[in-house]
Amino acid sequence: MTPGRPVPPPLAKPVYPAPDGPSAGAGTDAAGVLAAARGAVSSDSGLVPLTVARRAPAADDVEIAIEFCGLCHSDVHATRGEWGGKVYPLVPGHEIVGTVSRVGSAVTDFAVGERVGVGCMVDSCRECDSCLDGLEQYCENGMTGTYGAKDRRHGGTTQGGYSSSIVVDRRYVLRVPESLDPAAVAPLLCAGITTFSPLRHFDVAEGDVVGVVGLGGLGHMAVKLAKAMGAKVVVFTTSGPKVAAALELGADEVVLSRDEAAMAAADRTIDLIIDTVAAPHDLNPFFRTLRVDGALFQLGLPSEAMPPVNPGALIRRRIAYAGSLIGGIAETQEMLDFCAEHGVVADIEVVGAGQLNEAYDRMVAGDVKYRFVLDTSTLQAPAEEADA
Ligand code: NAP
Ligand code: ZN
Ligand code: ZN
Repeated sequence: MTPGRPVPPPLAKPVYPAPDGPSAGAGTDAAGVLAAARGAVSSDSGLVPLTVARRAPAADDVEIAIEFCGLCHSDVHATRGEWGGKVYPLVPGHEIVGTVSRVGSAVTDFAVGERVGVGCMVDSCRECDSCLDGLEQYCENGMTGTYGAKDRRHGGTTQGGYSSSIVVDRRYVLRVPESLDPAAVAPLLCAGITTFSPLRHFDVAEGDVVGVVGLGGLGHMAVKLAKAMGAKVVVFTTSGPKVAAALELGADEVVLSRDEAAMAAADRTIDLIIDTVAAPHDLNPFFRTLRVDGALFQLGLPSEAMPPVNPGALIRRRIAYAGSLIGGIAETQEMLDFCAEHGVVADIEVVGAGQLNEAYDRMVAGDVKYRFVLDTSTLQAPAEEADA
C-alpha cells in the first residue's frame, strides 16, 4: 500500500485468514494490511475475489504496492491442481512489479517509492551450499515459493501477486530499472529469468545457434534474450499462425515441429535447445536437430509423463539433456539489468481482474502474444462485478 492509500474493503467470497506467527517486526508497532486479491478456492473454482492478510513489515521486510503481475502457465497448473499438493485458497502470481510502500527498520537498500519486483521465490534457508552460491532456487532445504508454499519464517502459506500488495524479505526483492515499462517488465521475473539462466549457463554468444521450442511466455523471452546475446535463433512451433509472428519477434528461422520433412532438414543445425512446452511431447525429434556436444534444457513442467527419451539419440552426439529452474536472486538482477541495457521486455496483453479466467483458457489454447499481465488496480472492483 502506498502511504495514505486506504485498505481495500474485504470482498465477498472467502476471506483468507491471517497467517500464524509474528505479524509485526521488532521495534515496529505498524499494522499489517488486507490486500484485495484473486485466487482459487478449489481446483475447479476458477479465480474468485479473495482478501489476503499481509503481515506488517518485519525488520528486513519490504512492503510492495503491486502494480502489475504476469500470468504464467505455472499459475494455471497450480490453481487447477495439476501439480497436486497445493493448499486452497491459493492466490497465484510470481511475476510481480510494484513500488515500495513501507520498509522494515533494518532495510537500508530499498526506499519508499522505488520500483521493485518479486519473482518465483520469497525465501530460502540462506545457509546451504546452494544458497551461499547464489543458487537459492536449488536450496537444499527447499526454497519458499511466492505462492502455495509453507512460510518457514512467518508461518502460514505464501500467497502471490494477483493481489494489491505483498510483503517480502529484502533479500528476495529485485530492483526494476526505471527505463523499462513496468507492465512489460513483470514477465521478466519468471519467464525472463527462467530462459536467461540456461542461456547464460550454456554461455550463449555470437556464433551459437539457439533453438526455442514452444512460442509462449517463456519461449518468446528466450527468443529475445538469445538474440540480445548475439545468437542465431530458430523457433520450433506447433502453430502455423506463429511462423510470421516468430520472425517478427526476431527469430532467424522457424520450423513447424509437426512437419517431419522440416524437422529432418534441421538435422545437426542447433547448439542449444530451450524447450518451453507446457504439455508432454516427444523430445527425440529435437535431439536430432542438435550438433555434437549440443544440449537440450527442458523448462516446461507438464503434469503428465513425457514420452521416453531414446538414449541412442543422446549418446551418438554427446548430447546433454538438462533441466533448469528459474534463476538465483543475483542472476535475476543481472537479467533485469541486461534487459535494461538491451531494451528487452515482454510482449504483453494487459487484463483486468474480471478477465483472468478467460485469460487462463486462452493461455491453455495458445491464444496469447505472448504474456497476459494483470493490472492490479482493477482488483478492488465490487465483488458482484468480478468474475465468478
Ligand atoms: P505458455 O505461455 O502457455 O507457452 C507454452 C507453449 O508450449 C505454447 O505457446 C505452445 O507453443 C507450446 N505447446 C505445444 N503444445 C502444447 C500443448 N498441448 N499445451 C500447451 N502448450 C503447448 O506457457 P509458459 O508460461 O511459457 O510456461 C511453459 C512451461 O514452463 C509450463 O509448463 C510452466 O509451468 C513451465 N515453467 C517452468 C519454469 C522453470 O523454472 N523451469 C518456470 C516457469 C514456467 P507453440 O504454439 O509455439 O507450439
Ligand atoms: Zn512462472
Ligand atoms: Zn538453502
